[in-house]
Amino acid sequence: MKTVKLTALFFILLFFMNATITQAASAVKIAYTVTFPEAQAHYADVEMNISGIAQNTLDLKMPVWTPGSYLVREFAKNVESFSASANGKEIKSPKINKNTWQINTAGISAVTVKYRVYCFEVSVRTSFVDASHGFLSTTGIFIYPDKMLNAPSTIKIVPYKGWTTVSTSLDSVNGDTFTRYSPNFDILFDSPIEVGTQDVFGFDVSGVKYEVCMVGGGNYDKEMLKIDMAKIVVQETKVFGENPNKRYVFIVHNYQRGGGGLEHLSSTTLGASRDNYTNPTGYRNFLGLVAHEHFHLWNVKRLRPIVLGPFDYDNENYTTDLWIAEGFTAYYQNLILRHAQITNPETYLSAITGEINTIENQPGAKVQPLAEASFDAWIKSYRPNENSANTGISYYDKGAMVGMLLDLEIINDSKGKYALDDVMKYMYDTYYKQKKRGYTDEEFKQAFEKFAGKNLDEFYKNYVYGLTQLDYNKYLAYAGYKATDEAAGTNDPSLGIMTVENNGKKYVIGVQRGGAGWVDGINVNDELTAIDGTPITDMASILIGKKVGDKVSITVIRDGLPLTLPVTLLRNNRLKYRIDSLPEVTPLQMVVRKKWMGLVD
Ligand SMILES: [Zn+2]
Repeated sequence: MKTVKLTALFFILLFFMNATITQAASAVKIAYTVTFPEAQAHYADVEMNISGIAQNTLDLKMPVWTPGSYLVREFAKNVESFSASANGKEIKSPKINKNTWQINTAGISAVTVKYRVYCFEVSVRTSFVDASHGFLSTTGIFIYPDKMLNAPSTIKIVPYKGWTTVSTSLDSVNGDTFTRYSPNFDILFDSPIEVGTQDVFGFDVSGVKYEVCMVGGGNYDKEMLKIDMAKIVVQETKVFGENPNKRYVFIVHNYQRGGGGLEHLSSTTLGASRDNYTNPTGYRNFLGLVAHEHFHLWNVKRLRPIVLGPFDYDNENYTTDLWIAEGFTAYYQNLILRHAQITNPETYLSAITGEINTIENQPGAKVQPLAEASFDAWIKSYRPNENSANTGISYYDKGAMVGMLLDLEIINDSKGKYALDDVMKYMYDTYYKQKKRGYTDEEFKQAFEKFAGKNLDEFYKNYVYGLTQLDYNKYLAYAGYKATDEAAGTNDPSLGIMTVENNGKKYVIGVQRGGAGWVDGINVNDELTAIDGTPITDMASILIGKKVGDKVSITVIRDGLPLTLPVTLLRNNRLKYRIDSLPEVTPLQMVVRKKWMGLVD
């Protein structure tokens, strides 16, 4: 048949293409040197020496995104002063598109490329350099030869004055901490490098060496961190049955106020608030972040949706499975702290309550299905605007709760024999270890069905691809719990808007879909000045004495002009869930509860 012939031809072509790529990559040698002559002005200077070239043109590219953070960030925008030379003579290196430089290498086997990168974006996925330290988020620093992602490279770091320490999961060469080796570009792009005077300490878990690198100071207790982080590592390793790393590095950036994290194969970069470690909630949140990013070393870095590796560094990589890759990781970050006995059951249940309230108070939950939220991460969740809460749902929050529902379903159906852990381990063994590829939507669904012992077509139709409200109580009841909306009987009036105060002025920053402000035309960016002619001084008290159905007139300044809007107050429909134990808990419910929450007798 025609399709069969086409397929065969395709594979033959692919074979030759791969053969060419491997041949080219294996012959080429790449050595980078990174210096910081103007660290105080936020520059990293890169020299790249490529030898063993056997082609007439060489395209050098910079990735447009960094895996784990689903947004095209155009890292080439920070590159300047690009030049190429061979045998001491400059050669032309025109750009042929936004992130590609083309070098004429006819008759040339080795070239030296130099460029500078401006590094001043503070985040876990972008590079930052100043006189105190350098953080190299490698996707935005290192240019690679097109179609040679398999090529190994060495990276020599020449530190700025006073810098003493390099922290990265890349191995050092001949014991020289300033020279590192990367076996291929997927590894290099997954190995951020921190250089400076960071505080480094470590711990071991079953032969795996953990290194914690603290940048920016902080009131952390090293001994306490070693104990708690090790507990997390032990618990997460138990889920998957093995720790595939020999060494793992936590790079922690401490700021006045910081947060967020980005996962890598053998390391992670975390943002933290330097004075928050002594605050119990702040410390717990930090451990939650540790648990989240470390869990990713399995879930998404190795057990991954099929399109997330090998990566296309030039374009968006679309997947409908971020609700598993991110949502389940968000679910586990709380579950692991509970199973490691770091948090108590009440704290765990209150984290669940928080997730439920976040989802159910988001109008976008009735607009955007979970799988679609994942697919559109590139243009929606990573590019939020004032209307995002009305139009979308977070695959973190809803993915976490769908994960919880599936966990409870599996524990209940198997009478406590299996849990979501078993599905994760099975998927890791089957796809990462045996088949050595990512999974499809259908393959993960089949694994859930295997352990739940039932068909999940309806579940997927409703909760993954559809907009049906999650039936929390059906699943919580398996463990003898019930969620109740404490706000169910209330009838408080509301404008349905969110405001912010700036220099004593009150501005609208959000209008809730279907609320009074939405219906009667209050807009984002309106400055609220008066209600019924009385100047507004305090937003919290403007509706005192009013009730649902009352008509008020709201005066705003919009684009410099005053405007008075008649507004009919509507009921404040914010939900406020609470989770309680059912009055009577059956033996099976207790079995499910203990398994789910990791309760020990
Ligand atoms: Zn994550």
